[in-house]
Amino acid sequence: MKRWILAVLAALAAAVCFGCAASAKAERALFAMDTYMTLAAYGRNTDEALDECEAELVRLEKLFSATLPDSDAARIRLGAGGDVEVSADTAAILETALRVSAQSGGAFDVTIYPLVDAWGFLTEAPHVPSGDEIEDALTRVDYRRLVLSGQSVRVEPGMGVDFGGVAKGYASDRLMQIFRARGVKSAIVSLGGNVYALGARPDGGAWRVGVQDPLDASNVLGVLLVKDTAVITSGAYQRNFTENGKQYHHILNPATGYPADSGLVSVTIVGQNGAKADSLSTALFVLGEADAAKLWRADGTFGMVLVTSDRRVLVTDGLDFTLSDKAVGYRTVVLSS
Ligand code: AMP
Ligand code: MG
Repeated sequence: MKRWILAVLAALAAAVCFGCAASAKAERALFAMDTYMTLAAYGRNTDEALDECEAELVRLEKLFSATLPDSDAARIRLGAGGDVEVSADTAAILETALRVSAQSGGAFDVTIYPLVDAWGFLTEAPHVPSGDEIEDALTRVDYRRLVLSGQSVRVEPGMGVDFGGVAKGYASDRLMQIFRARGVKSAIVSLGGNVYALGARPDGGAWRVGVQDPLDASNVLGVLLVKDTAVITSGAYQRNFTENGKQYHHILNPATGYPADSGLVSVTIVGQNGAKADSLSTALFVLGEADAAKLWRADGTFGMVLVTSDRRVLVTDGLDFTLSDKAVGYRTVVLSS
């Protein structure tokens, strides 16, 4: 065979192989932070990146868990009344959490631990606390009484932090940093209701991220087309229990001490800062439709899909959201700035 033909064939083979590598998919599934998680990455160096992502999720869980005895959250609680030195990650997650706590007027409150504990949400057997227990817990919930100075944290005795509303969003940001550092350009992770889509799909198209129907969790409400962003949902359906025929869910209103009852059944935030998007999803669920819209207009860095108990789907303009045919009885309303 002529040399030049061989050279062309070799070049073609290399191009084909390169094409294979660029779209090869690597996947992982794991359980961390009390959540079933899936990670998928495309292209080269993906196995090493996914190994590092898994290790990172385990590392962050050990820092942020409210129940593991040596976590930073536990150390802050046990060291209450004095200064506790925490990791750089804990200082960073607290910074975002405190900012959203202030931005939402305390609807999101990172010091909600005593209330979450009173409801037993950190155990296998949550229950309705007595009125006195709720009153007592609420005297110990106030993000303004947590002092963060560098990597030093101080809370008052009896107080504590709960990162349940922000940890997975923060973790998704860290995973994106790992992918970027390793040159991975196309990946998607789903940490429970927290999705982060890196770049575009390997074919260059937008990622399709489903939003669950909060009133029928086996159904998809609709699909968001996104690139390079977090899509994070808080919903009453995600964790709840029934006592005396009444259902109670895990997103608590720090103003009342009871599960938020704002008329919203789910809140999806679309934004590039995963930790902020996660805190906001919880905050806006507590705030309700009118205050959520106000905060959205004032902030200007994110999009949202709010679902109300009377089946309205409020979608901020600029988002590419399509209601599913299976979402019976819903109607979409566009919110404009
Ligand atoms: P998410 O699923 O992101 O809305 O977070 C819900 C979790 O955040 C709960 O399981 C609690 O651990 C915690 N949480 C509940 N209510 C609040 C609140 N008002 N502010 C901050 N964290 C909360
Ligand atoms: Mg959240």
